[in-house]
Amino acid sequence: MAEMQLKNVSKRWGNFIAVDDFHLSIPDEEFLVLLGPSGCGKSTTMRMIAGLEEVSGGEIWIGDRVVNKLEPKDRDIAMVFQSYGLYPTMSVYENIRFPLKVRRIPKDEHHERVMRAAEMVELTDFLDRRPAELSGGQRQRVALARAIVRKPTVFLMDEPLSNLDAKLRVSTRAQIKNLHHELRTTTIYVTHDQIEAMTLADRVVVMNKGVVQQVGTPLQIYDRPANTFVASFIGSPAMNLMNGTIENGVFTGKGVRIEGLSKTVTGPVTLGFRAEDATPVTSGGEISAPIFSLELLGEASMVSVHAGGALVAVKVPKSFSAEIGDIFGASVPASICHLFDRDTGERIG
Ligand code: ATP
Repeated sequence: MAEMQLKNVSKRWGNFIAVDDFHLSIPDEEFLVLLGPSGCGKSTTMRMIAGLEEVSGGEIWIGDRVVNKLEPKDRDIAMVFQSYGLYPTMSVYENIRFPLKVRRIPKDEHHERVMRAAEMVELTDFLDRRPAELSGGQRQRVALARAIVRKPTVFLMDEPLSNLDAKLRVSTRAQIKNLHHELRTTTIYVTHDQIEAMTLADRVVVMNKGVVQQVGTPLQIYDRPANTFVASFIGSPAMNLMNGTIENGVFTGKGVRIEGLSKTVTGPVTLGFRAEDATPVTSGGEISAPIFSLELLGEASMVSVHAGGALVAVKVPKSFSAEIGDIFGASVPASICHLFDRDTGERIG
């Protein structure tokens, strides 16, 4: 059991900065998700923690020791990758047992530990099979069992669900969440999928271009994104972001006028709101524009219109009926609006 700390950790290749000054304490038992688009530096951060990549600067602490110079095998962490990394000639049982052999764990403990790990991921019926005789989801569960069996201080998981189809991804995700609940092992999980981040994380670290954009609980990040990058990365659909100008607390842009905003902000701004926070109205809405598209989602529908220089989405009841081109009005009160600096993208209200 241990807290982990990343102190000003960075990674450079020549002039290219892949990870810039990453600074974070990860309390014992936390499920931390590193989230960001492809190339943002999340895998590099993970690989530095694992010891597969040297840091260019900074320190990585696990408990009360700096692990920068330790070999991966001496860091007491277990990794799960998207590619499973199973040994094809070994049975499921032997694959799960392998880390115990390598670490010279007393033989009389092996059977019980393997069986317990297999049970936790529901693999007891498959122990005699080889990896080729398993589905993708079952293979990933073998990889999870192999990580669990070691009882490491920290789990590192790099996009473990990305090779699975949509349905399996959901069930394996639930299994990972349940495992963390049972084992309480500090876990660092890398993904570019914001839904995985929202559903699994105690805290999310949103990264872009090697720089941490925001750290917070899923709800903090969803409810108060620190900047337009986070606002447009979290949520499905992403937050609507419109450009316009504020004077005396009134935001105006093409096809939109919103009153009652902060009077301390003036000039050009980016205004954001979430599709589900706005409501359709028959007259007098802050947004009024012709319908560009109307999509049925199942439990609701989504109307899109051009306003404030963007295509903005508003969630409407599935009973809503209209045609493309009809004028659509939406209530977008000041209370649901987020204000961002037009140039820097940082939250200003
Ligand atoms: P993905 O989701 O695609 O795996 P990521 O966020 O995990 O992306 P990283 O793999 O951490 O991104 O890579 C971060 C940046 O560092 C990328 O621009 C990548 O091209 C670069 N990079 C990674 N490894 C090297 C290397 N060995 N030499 C030079 N640049 C590298």
